[in-house]
Amino acid sequence: MAFEPDASHSGSDPRLAGGRLTVDLDALVHNYRALAGRSPSARVAGVVKGDGYGLGAAKVAGALWRAGCRTFFVALPAEGIALRAALPDAQIFVLNGLFGPEAVPAYGAHRLIPMLGSQGDISCWEAYGWDSDVPRPCAIHVDTGMNRLGLSLDEARSFAAENALTGAITPLLLISHLACGDAPDHPMNRQQLESFQAVRQIFPEIESSLSNSAGTFLGPDFAFDLVRPGIALYGGGAGPHSAGVVKPVATAEARVVQIRRAQTGDTVSYGGSQRLTRDTTIAVASVGYADGYHRSGSGAGVPLREAVANGGFGFLHGQRVPVLGRVTMDLTLFDVTDLAPGVLAQGDWIEVFGPNVPIDEAATAAGTIAYELLTSLGQRYHRRYVGGESSTE
Ligand SMILES: *Cc1c(COP(=O)(O)O)cnc(C)c1O
Repeated sequence: MAFEPDASHSGSDPRLAGGRLTVDLDALVHNYRALAGRSPSARVAGVVKGDGYGLGAAKVAGALWRAGCRTFFVALPAEGIALRAALPDAQIFVLNGLFGPEAVPAYGAHRLIPMLGSQGDISCWEAYGWDSDVPRPCAIHVDTGMNRLGLSLDEARSFAAENALTGAITPLLLISHLACGDAPDHPMNRQQLESFQAVRQIFPEIESSLSNSAGTFLGPDFAFDLVRPGIALYGGGAGPHSAGVVKPVATAEARVVQIRRAQTGDTVSYGGSQRLTRDTTIAVASVGYADGYHRSGSGAGVPLREAVANGGFGFLHGQRVPVLGRVTMDLTLFDVTDLAPGVLAQGDWIEVFGPNVPIDEAATAAGTIAYELLTSLGQRYHRRYVGGESSTE
């Protein structure tokens, strides 16, 4: 497997970077196929908003395309423009609505398909939308309980009746979004499913899509024509049933820049909030909250954290090593006292999440979710992509 540096990030020179991020495109493709296997009646789209959940949209979308994925979702028209440059023939939907008349020309110029989720979006698209082989292609977003984006059931009904007469715009896809997909027993899942089935009766001709990653684990009723996974493609958990189905895709590691000894009773890091209860060997690692290694994952001194009292941990030389004291902007301290003497050297790499520190656990330790860890990674990691080159349909 070739290592391919990515010059678009400030961490492009591996000798100079404090952190390194390895993105395993083979694992990404594995996850794509695993999700396809779970929803055999549906196509699997790739959700690549937020720069492909922080992992590089062009790179991950390219690997998904080579694996046979043809439909992609981004959040913003600007993300759609960037993705179009990488994938000239992909079908690209823009989730966040239309952004008004000033944004419409970008949709036409780059063949982006807007998600219309309000009366305002619809009027705007009717007035300005572009014609391809069909007049003003779009997707219709209907709200079934999330109360974030989307037409109400009544709005959808009156739009459908009107558009049946005028034919002004061409809906290609009907979507709604689950609020509680990662909690399989939550009654909202069934309620949203039933509402969505009712909306489908209004638009019987067009394809429909309800499920995000977690939805693909709720059973075949939730698959419809297209599923829209994001986080599970990137190796994050998507509810209790995704464990063991998806492989980790991203590995983040931090360089050990110093190894030091401290005594029982000393305090560690800002605030002096962690007092050592034994003589301790500390690995000072070059990762901090400027790299999305959240301060809330500190070893001590986080009064609001409840989920994981002791904070985050790293992994090196075959062992878990806990975070000591507060995570700082550029550096984090790890307790490496229990490593065998002499194994640790300056310049070693501590895994902060990856195959040995599941990203969901690292996120929980910081009181957050894998989505937020990935999208906060920032620009300082040296990024490398492995695998993916030879994937075919
Ligand atoms: C982000 C998003 C998805 C993907 O969600 P995951 O939980 O990451 O799988 C799907 N649909 C919509 C509307 C989204 O906003």
